Amino acid sequence: MKRPWKDISVPLRDGMAHWPGDPECRITRVNKMEEGAVCNLTHLSMSAHTGTHMDAPRHFVADGLTMEQMPLEPVIGRCRVVEFEVESQITADDLKDLRLLPGQRLLFKTRNSTRSWAMSEFDKDFISIRADAAQLLVDLKIVTVGVDYLSIGGYGKDVVETHQIMLGAGIWVIEGLNLAAIKPGYYDLICLPLKIEGADGAPCRAVLR
Ligand SMILES: [Zn+2]
Repeated sequence: MKRPWKDISVPLRDGMAHWPGDPECRITRVNKMEEGAVCNLTHLSMSAHTGTHMDAPRHFVADGLTMEQMPLEPVIGRCRVVEFEVESQITADDLKDLRLLPGQRLLFKTRNSTRSWAMSEFDKDFISIRADAAQLLVDLKIVTVGVDYLSIGGYGKDVVETHQIMLGAGIWVIEGLNLAAIKPGYYDLICLPLKIEGADGAPCRAVLR
């Protein structure tokens, strides 16, 4: 018997933590049945990079692919969850003994899953991928990389460089996962971002089995 699917997305919530300087996440009910409306209706206002979301190459590549052009293979299929116990950034050195294979979909679990998501404010000290590790993932021909906080690159560190390296090489990036309940190992992954035309990113729902 197949095991149940586990949700590795974070809830979208009014006022939730977001990358400093990006628009606030606003979720407002504009029609309320308790006030006489025939239905409830919610208005959303947020950056495309809110909560659990994907980055399209267009995020850091001027003429890169946009969200609706994404093939489905990078986000549906076998994936590997790898756990890192690092204090600041995942480096090329941290990756070298993992026997990563071309074509793999990888999700990186760190202390972010328990620490960063428990904070109401943006955690500037979240664990990120250092540029040398980003380059190694490209060299290894990894197809998809998922991380457990809001960016692959570090705040005030190599956020631009890491994005340029990975998105520039066509790696599909999932950000904002919560892997707290997931053990390292192999899983089936489904992660479907909203099909937003021309977008550099989109919120998504991601599940593992
Ligand atoms: Zn993003």
